[in-house]
Amino acid sequence: MAIKKIAVLTSGGDAPGMNAAIRAVTRAALFKGVEVVGVYRGYVGLMSGDFVPMTMRSVSDIIQRGGTILYSARSHEFHTEEGMQKAIAQCRAHGIEGVVVLGGDGSFRGAQDLTRRGLPCVGLPCTIDNDISCCEHTIGYDTALNTAMEMIDKLRDTSMSHDRCSVVEVMGREAGYLALNVAVAVGAISVLVPEIQHDFQRDVIDRIRAAALTGKKHFIVLVAEGVGGVLEMAPQIEKATGFETRATILGHVQRGGSPSVYDRVLASRMGHYAVELLLAGQSNRVVTVQNDRLMDFDIEEALRMKKPFDEHLFRVAQELSM
Ligand code: ATP
Repeated sequence: MAIKKIAVLTSGGDAPGMNAAIRAVTRAALFKGVEVVGVYRGYVGLMSGDFVPMTMRSVSDIIQRGGTILYSARSHEFHTEEGMQKAIAQCRAHGIEGVVVLGGDGSFRGAQDLTRRGLPCVGLPCTIDNDISCCEHTIGYDTALNTAMEMIDKLRDTSMSHDRCSVVEVMGREAGYLALNVAVAVGAISVLVPEIQHDFQRDVIDRIRAAALTGKKHFIVLVAEGVGGVLEMAPQIEKATGFETRATILGHVQRGGSPSVYDRVLASRMGHYAVELLLAGQSNRVVTVQNDRLMDFDIEEALRMKKPFDEHLFRVAQELSM
């Protein structure tokens, strides 16, 4: 029997482009004659039945907005069998036959648990960390890269004016993709990522000293969230190099803002694809992009995959920043 009603929810950390994805899911489903409900605050709203009917107009004027109009949340209760059963019961009561889950790894585990209990789910990878193994680019990553780059360009202006060093922490959780790509884009003298062991003296102090010998007077050191410690590093750099050093943690500013063209288009394509999967009777799938082609994987298989770190780009970063 064809699906008549689906739900869409956003879960875990928000990411720019989530709204574009909500719009795509809603419009793609309505286009096919399928009803859509939005679920407020992810799995929290799924358990309590906090639903809103979605129309063509409820997703007007959101493609350009950061955050998520459906709000996001994390829920411990949803990890329990009782919580899971509440969610299933709410969906049954409202005639919901499939759910599109926008989020990261944790949210996909939840989607898998729901699918196993008879509610078909499809996941869309939305996270600025780009840490979904099966997916080259997650929704939100490109915007966060650009936001971090713009912020660090501003820091560079002031570092340059005062012959300073800026040691900057960018987000990424346990992954260094954001840090590495931003480091290349801003010409950082050094980048520290969790995937590659570092030696502070060799990889930070000696690089600054060597560049200073060639006349360089201001420096950006990029540190991934998964390495951390910028507040402690700043005085160490200042003491060892003589350059006044300031620490900046960019923080949640990287999660906000209007999504880039890339993220809007990716979210639109992925949202449309997710609906087609559900309507074709597929479930427990995560939508991904590789070489600009959309694909889908079984959630369990996707969660087992390991994403290789771009060691070549790391070498490029090292060889170009001096
Ligand atoms: P981000 O990467 O941005 O943090 P995420 O989706 O990984 O996003 P999590 O906090 O890990 O964020 O997960 C979001 C929600 O998904 C959790 O609050 C919980 O309700 C649900 N969830 C996480 N892990 C599981 C699991 N193993 N089983 C069932 N539900 C889960």
